[in-house]
Amino acid sequence: MKEETPQEGPALEPKRGLAEEIMAEHGEDVYRCYQCLKCSAGCPMTFAMDYPPSQVMRMIQLGQEEDLLASKTIWVCVTCNTCSIRCPNDIDIALVIDSLRQKALRKGRHPAKENVALFHKYFLDNVKKRGRTFEGELLARYQLKTGQAFENAGLGLRMFLKGRLGVLPESVSNKKAFREIYRRVEERGGKK
Ligand code: SF4
Ligand code: SF4
Repeated sequence: MKEETPQEGPALEPKRGLAEEIMAEHGEDVYRCYQCLKCSAGCPMTFAMDYPPSQVMRMIQLGQEEDLLASKTIWVCVTCNTCSIRCPNDIDIALVIDSLRQKALRKGRHPAKENVALFHKYFLDNVKKRGRTFEGELLARYQLKTGQAFENAGLGLRMFLKGRLGVLPESVSNKKAFREIYRRVEERGGKK
């Protein structure tokens, strides 16, 4: 009896375009990521993400752009920078995720999670005002608009317990210089 040989499917080739694009536009080399998972271990938002930040890095290396642009992660990330600070390879992960979010917006993609685009807008307004986030105001504004006060109470408490929810607003010392930087970044479409 003739033995059947298993059918071989096409080899999965990583698509390199997305990583190169991020490198060219933002100067971040995601190929330096070796999956130590420190970013994901410190991220306060993984409970609401479909892919933690370390997996986002891997997916970029593999060129899984469509999955990333359709993900919840890019909208749920609050750009707290914890991941970027923890990365031993000095990858600005928060910036990389923001670049995916900006790309999704440019392509007219809607957030996978309801109201996340609104949260994203309020976050940017919040930073623009003082040069720093004042999470209390941000969450209050968002909750008033969406009526999700009770739904988000758990998130607020988790952020507070992790030391990421300020009680009083703080501003950068040189607001004028910050506004000028912000204006230039806006002019350049958020690129470095
Ligand atoms: S910047 Fe985003 S991905 Fe990084 S730790 Fe903060 S919420 Fe998580
Ligand atoms: S901390 Fe840096 S090297 Fe480690 S998994 Fe995250 S991105 Fe990769």
